[in-house]
Amino acid sequence: MSASPLVIGAGHNGLTAAFYLARAGLRPIVLESRDVVGGAAVTEEIAPGFRSALAHATGPIREAVVRDMQLARRVEFVRPDPRLLALSPDGRALAFSTDTARTADAIRPFSEADAARYAEFCATLERLGAFLGGLLEMTPPSLSAPAGAELWDLLKVGRRFRGLGKTDGFRLLRWLPMAVADLVAEWFSSDPLVAAIAARGIFGTAQGPWSAGTGAVLLLNAATDPAPGGSSVMVKGGAGALTAAMADAAREAGAEIRTGSLVSRVLVRDGRAAGVVLDDGTEVISDAVIANTDPRRTLLQLVDPVELDPGFLTKIRNYRMAGTVAKLDFALSALPAFRAVPRPADLRARLHIGPTIDYLEHAFDASKYGEVSSEPYLDIAFPSVLDPSLAPPGRHVMSVYMQFAPYRLAHGRAWSSMRDTLATTVLRTLERYAPGISSLVEGQRILTPADLESTYGLTGGHILHGEPALDQLFTMRPVLGWAQYRTPIDGLFLCGSGTHPGGGLTAASGHNASREIIRAIKKRRAASA
Ligand SMILES: Cc1cc2nc3c(=O)[nH]c(=O)nc-3n(C[C@H](O)[C@H](O)[C@H](O)COP(=O)(O)OP(=O)(O)OC[C@H]3O[C@@H](n4cnc5c(N)ncnc54)[C@H](O)[C@@H]3O)c2cc1C
Repeated sequence: MSASPLVIGAGHNGLTAAFYLARAGLRPIVLESRDVVGGAAVTEEIAPGFRSALAHATGPIREAVVRDMQLARRVEFVRPDPRLLALSPDGRALAFSTDTARTADAIRPFSEADAARYAEFCATLERLGAFLGGLLEMTPPSLSAPAGAELWDLLKVGRRFRGLGKTDGFRLLRWLPMAVADLVAEWFSSDPLVAAIAARGIFGTAQGPWSAGTGAVLLLNAATDPAPGGSSVMVKGGAGALTAAMADAAREAGAEIRTGSLVSRVLVRDGRAAGVVLDDGTEVISDAVIANTDPRRTLLQLVDPVELDPGFLTKIRNYRMAGTVAKLDFALSALPAFRAVPRPADLRARLHIGPTIDYLEHAFDASKYGEVSSEPYLDIAFPSVLDPSLAPPGRHVMSVYMQFAPYRLAHGRAWSSMRDTLATTVLRTLERYAPGISSLVEGQRILTPADLESTYGLTGGHILHGEPALDQLFTMRPVLGWAQYRTPIDGLFLCGSGTHPGGGLTAASGHNASREIIRAIKKRRAASA
């Protein structure tokens, strides 16, 4: 057996896990199917001379990972101020800046009462987020047979929970299962503020603001970045520059990365992982295989079903990962003139379009019936404003996340027939905010959920490797009993966003997983030495 653990996939979590394994002296080999590293965090040409990333903002990346991989030395993180502009159809914008008092000033014209409560809401999110942040860093305990160390960790969680005090403790317990629309309505009443905050509870999900449990999504996101408007930590060169830097860090630590290596099967011998088979038939042998691929792809496609218990297979088949996001990139001849954004420099911020809770819920409604929202929720960035090298001089790139575009369309329609509908719908929506924007389009790249699956390996087109729903989080991510980065196959581990805590471009899953995997590999090798 090779001493080199194999990592399937060079997404940011696979690269993070590989870095830590390499630092522990384990010399991992990363096998990436595409010719480029990064997975969903990649920057590519979208039209001649124009480049854009799939994900235009980071989660942000966990601080310990930024420090250990020396990412601040390798790439330039940009934190625009304002970070988010929530646009109203009446031509106004609510600017969420990095400063709480300034944001409260911006809220005042919409509602005096909301402005007065904003600081208290921020402080509450920060305290609850800090508590949950501790949970994000831990390996979820085994519920059936918790080890001594796990019980100790749980005790510490209990102590920290008590430390929250009665008011925050009750808030946390109430808010997690709540619909985010109800949660935010307990604090605020002005439409742009309520809708922009609530959108954080539905981003990337198959849920609307009135879906139960979207409160938990808001709180989990707040654990990564407590600012109500969400994270706008971006990277010069786009997310692909970040993952290229992560790959450099992993290589320097001793990892080998092989692109163009599509894994077609995980080899299992006597119930234990024994390596992988590539699509050209090459066998790469190892006693440790770490899948950055999502849980369904890993356990339903790469592993022979005879190796898994039928009950476990049923649980994985029931793991929900039908995506709802389409990604559109436009090559523009100039910056569009948004009625609500007089200063072009402010287009460094993300733009939120989804002005009311009703608007967001209607956008979601369509997807329940396999239809594309006719008035979609959009999250937009202009990466070329932050980094002019992404477009030819004077020209710009507009990156748009569009919800809701359900993976499964009604009436058996194929996504290939719907590309133009997506572009037309997005541009028609944007015309209301930036009249004339359509005439600036020189080129476009449209990625449907089907494209996210076929090109980027995101099963179901789900950008988060599985719904962040209450029944698929913490000790239940991906499924109950298997939240500790292990699988029923000895030596086969998971490290991607479909494991706790998931949550986008944070590197948290890869970081947590590497801790458990290093321990398991070292223990096994010591036992067999
Ligand atoms: C359109 C879009 C917008 C997003 N926006 C944001 C955002 O604003 N903020 C945020 O925090 N997050 C965002 N995300 C989510 C975030 O980018 C992902 O959750 C994250 O990048 C997933 O990382 P990962 O390493 O877990 O998996 P992935 O990046 O999916 O990596 C898995 C890797 O495995 C490879 N692979 C698959 N099958 C095989 C195989 N058989 N053999 C070998 N290799 C294989 C894939 O090519 C890929 O490189 C967005 C994602 C998308 C798609």
